[in-house]
Order: sequence, then structure tokens, then C-alpha cells
Amino acid sequence: MQRWMILLAGLGACAAGGHFQGDVCRLPSVPLVKARAQAARTRNLVLITVDGVRWQEIFGGAGALPCGAVEELLPNLHALGELGVTIGDRGAPVVSSGPKFVSLPGYREIMTGRASAACLDNDCGPLTDTTLLDELPPDDVAVIASWERVARAAARDLGRITVSAGRHGRWGRLQAFSQLLDEGAHSPARPGYADYRPDRHTMALAREYLRKRRPRFLWVALGDTDEYAHRGDYRGYLDALRSADRFVGEIWQLLGTMGAYGAETTILVTADHGRAADFVAHGEAPESARVWLLAGGGAVEPRGAIAAESTVHLRDIAPSARALLDLPADPSEDAGVPIAALLPPLLVTQARVDRN
Ligand SMILES: [Zn+2]
Repeated sequence: MQRWMILLAGLGACAAGGHFQGDVCRLPSVPLVKARAQAARTRNLVLITVDGVRWQEIFGGAGALPCGAVEELLPNLHALGELGVTIGDRGAPVVSSGPKFVSLPGYREIMTGRASAACLDNDCGPLTDTTLLDELPPDDVAVIASWERVARAAARDLGRITVSAGRHGRWGRLQAFSQLLDEGAHSPARPGYADYRPDRHTMALAREYLRKRRPRFLWVALGDTDEYAHRGDYRGYLDALRSADRFVGEIWQLLGTMGAYGAETTILVTADHGRAADFVAHGEAPESARVWLLAGGGAVEPRGAIAAESTVHLRDIAPSARALLDLPADPSEDAGVPIAALLPPLLVTQARVDRN
């Protein structure tokens, strides 16, 4: 089938207004993300990336579905953005720096805090640059990813930190999680290919890792959304997005049971790239540059939707994380800049001083 035919078939199901037969709406619409007191500082970060999810659904929902309003479709992401900060809906957009809007360069931009000049597609080799995670104490860092190639964006020295990427990629201290790892390893790759691990296994491992190990930085890289989108399966994409939304709520709820650790943890949620106008593709199309950023918890102030005055880039996330975690600023000329809306006022001032 031609791509456009697949797309029309997918959208047709959605456009049926009220008669959508999928199970996209089966998850509860009551958010698990609920208000909690702002902490004096952020000591820990949970970064959740949801591969290739468009701003259109994040800010606008899914139109004709019975649960299509954004607060019903994505109750947890919506609540996180209302109780914390939403960037990219109003004012200037959030974008990947490109020039190609594909996953590995996008993830490298997020983790290094610099535009991905040396890596322009998904076939780049191991990192030669350091990332934010190369600088944190090794026992404090974990990366748990559905797509195996996320390992090539996590850190220059993978042996130093804990990484589970795809069904078989493993580095670091994971012995205590062998049952969950084995379940993922024995799963079919679908909706992905090769060594891809479906999100449900990535999520189960991430929840358990967070609960047991209390990392200072946990990156959970989900990917089912992009896989379904490439298949032209809009319903599958929405299902995967709703599961990711539920996962964000579960992480928020879990942090609420973890005392001071949970109270001082900020959740950041973003995507590596957007989608082309045809929904199925991304990469060359300039509109697939546009993404979004939601954050809440820890010291992030409840500001809701921010109208950014100038374009925010994926490379600004690592400098923001550095400021939040009280790490030294990246002195490189091409480093991004901390996003003021994510930082308590004192840290905004400090981040400016550090760069001067
Ligand atoms: Zn893709």
C-alpha cells in the first residue's frame, strides 16, 4: 500500500467521530499527576523521551475521538504541563537543530547539549563527544531505552554507567533486574525491528529501577509511537502515546511514595523530532523539526504554558539539567543555554553568571 493510502486508512478511523472502534480510549482519563509542594531544589532528574511524537497531539489532542480532548487523551502529560511548565505551545517553538530531524542526532543533541554536527542520521557510530551523563557519578546514572541505538547517544563511556538499550544491549549494574531484562529479551521486536524492545518492557524495567536504585539521572527512552507512525498506524500511535502518558503518571505517583528523593525529583518529557505533514515520515521535512517540552516536580515552579520569547532548542535541555542539578555549565561555544522557565529564579541568575 502507498504511504498516503495507509495514512488515509488510519485517519479515516479517527475521523469517524464518536464511532472510533479502537481501544485508544480504554485508559482512565483521571490523571495520576497531582499537585504537590515545590521543593527547594532539584537533586534528581527523570528524563522521558517519547520518539517522534508531534506537538499536534500533545497540545491539541486527537480531534474526533471520544477521548480526543487533550486533557482526556493525555491526562498525565496535560496535568504535568499545567502543574509544572509547558514549552512550545505558545510563543516561540521548541525545535531540533537538525539539519535532519531524525532520532539519533536528536537524542545526541539532547544529551550532549550541543547541535549534532557530526551525526546526521541513525547510522552514526559510537559517541566521541562526552554527554551530561559522562560527568555524573557512574552509580547515579541509568538509561533504559526501547531502541537499541539510544546507547549511541547516552554517553561516550558506556561501560561507566548503567544502560539497557533494546532487547540485548546491557552495560553496568543490572544483575538485580535479570527477570525483567529476560522478559524484554524474549519479546518480539514489534512494533519495532531488529533488537527493538517494545515500550511495555522498557517501562516495567524503568519503574523497578527507579524504585530500587533511586538514580540521580534516569533517562527513559520510549519508542513505540514512532514505530507505529512509520507503519501509518495512527491508532497504534495514539495507543502508544496514551501508554506513555500513563507511564509518566505512574512515575509521578511512584515518586510521591519515595520521600525526600521523590520530592526533589524533576520529570522532563520531550521528543527527539516531530513529524512531516504526512504524519508517517520525518527527517527532511522542515516541519518535523518542531517538538515540545513539559516539566514538573522538584524545584520547577508551577508556571503552566510559557510563551517563549525566542526559539528553544533540544540542545538547551542539557544546560537546563546542569543548572537544576548544580553541575558546572558547559563552556563550549556551541553549547545550548539553560531554559529560564525551568529554573528557580536564583538558578537563572547563576546560570547567566556561569556563562559570562
Ligand atoms: Zn522515525
